[in-house]
Amino acid sequence: MTSALTTDTEQQLFFHNYARLPLAIDHGEGSYLVAEDGTRYLDMISGIGVNALGYGDRRLIDAISAQAEKIIHASNLFMLAPQFDLAAKLREITGLSKVFFANSGTEAIEAAIKISRKWAAQSGDADKKEVLSLSNCFHGRTYGAMSLTAKAKYLEGFEPLLPGTGTIEFNDIDDLARKVSSRTAAVFIETVQGEGGIHRVSNEFMETLQSLKKQYGFLIVADEIQAGCGRTGKFCSYMHTTLQPDLVCLAKPLGGGLPLAAVVGSDLVAGVLSAGNHGTTFGGNPVACAAGLALITALFEDKVMEHAATVGTMMHAAFQELATRHSQIIDIRQYGLMIGITVHREAAYYVREALQRQVIVNATSQDVIRLLPPLTITATEARKCIDCLDEIFTNEK
Ligand SMILES: *Cc1c(COP(=O)(O)O)cnc(C)c1O
Repeated sequence: MTSALTTDTEQQLFFHNYARLPLAIDHGEGSYLVAEDGTRYLDMISGIGVNALGYGDRRLIDAISAQAEKIIHASNLFMLAPQFDLAAKLREITGLSKVFFANSGTEAIEAAIKISRKWAAQSGDADKKEVLSLSNCFHGRTYGAMSLTAKAKYLEGFEPLLPGTGTIEFNDIDDLARKVSSRTAAVFIETVQGEGGIHRVSNEFMETLQSLKKQYGFLIVADEIQAGCGRTGKFCSYMHTTLQPDLVCLAKPLGGGLPLAAVVGSDLVAGVLSAGNHGTTFGGNPVACAAGLALITALFEDKVMEHAATVGTMMHAAFQELATRHSQIIDIRQYGLMIGITVHREAAYYVREALQRQVIVNATSQDVIRLLPPLTITATEARKCIDCLDEIFTNEK
C-alpha cells in the first residue's frame, strides 16, 4: 500500500517538526523539481543548498552507480579509496592537515566542539573550555551545535544546554573583545550566515578575531556547511577574507546529495584525537565520498564555481534594478549564489506567491527571501526567478 502525499497523511505519519510545502515531488531535472501531476517548478533553494549540480547530474549518477557496484558500506575498520581520495582533495583545497568524515552538518560541528575542548584540555589550562559563537548564527540541532545556536525558537523547552557556551554580538568588535579570554577554547563563525539571513562577517571583525586569537590562544572554527563547496564562488566563503581557520566544517552539498560532512583541521589540532576518541559508523561512506569527488571535480575542472559567481553577479544587478521600482525591497545581499533579500513584510508571503507561479524560493529570519539555487543554474533560469518576483512585487496588495 502506498500513502497519499497529502498534508493530512503527513500530519498523521510524522512528528510535526517540519513545515512542508503542499507539494508532492516525483523527480528532479536540472534546476527543476517535477511534481507528481507533472508540474515543473524552478527550484531556487536546491534541497537547502545541497544540490549544487542540480538534479540528475550525470557526473554524480555515474560516480554513485560505479561505487555502489563495488561496495556501498564497509565502515571505518577498513581503508577505502574514495575516502582517501576525497580527504586528499580537501587537504589540497584548504591547505589544512587532517580530515574527519561525518554524515551531517551538526555532527561535523559536534566533532569540532570535541576537538576544540580536547585541544584546550591538552594545553593544561583546566579553565579553557568555553566555546563561543555569533548572534544570529546557525550550527545545527544536536545538543552541542544547538547550544551554539543562540536563538530562542530553536532552544525553548530543550534546556539544559551544553555548559561553557556563549554568544558574541555579530560584527560587534567591542563585544568580541569583552567575551573572549584565556578561558576561550574556540570561536565558531559562519563567514556568511545562512539561516541567519545571508549576512557576512566584516573584515574588521575577522582581523580583530585573529589578533585576539594570537593574544589568548583559541581556535577559530569556520562553519562552511552552507556557504562552502563553491556556493559563494570560492570553495569556502572564508577564502574571500584573510581568515585562517584551525577547523573547517563542510556538509550540505559535499556528498552530492548523499549525507556526508567533513571536519578539516590545521597542524595545530592534527594530534588531538587518538584511536577510539571519536568516530561514527557511516562517516565517510564510500558512495557518498565518490559523489563528493565527482562534485569537487565538477566545481574545479568544469568551472562550476566561476559560473556561480557570474550568474550571482548578474542576479545582484537585476535585483538592484528591481529595488529601484519596488519599495518592498529593503536590502539585497549576494555572495555568489547565496542571496538574501530583506523585504518589508513576512517573506513567507513571497514564498506562497512564487509557488503559485511555479518558482520555489525560501524564507529565513522572518523577512528575508533566501535563494540558494543550483550552482549550475542558467542565466535564463535565473532571469525567470527575477521576473517572477518582479511580477509578485508589482501585483502585491
Ligand atoms: C544546515 C547547517 C548546519 C547543520 O547541518 P545538518 O546537516 O542539517 O545537521 C550547520 N551549520 C550551517 C551553517 C548550516 O547551514
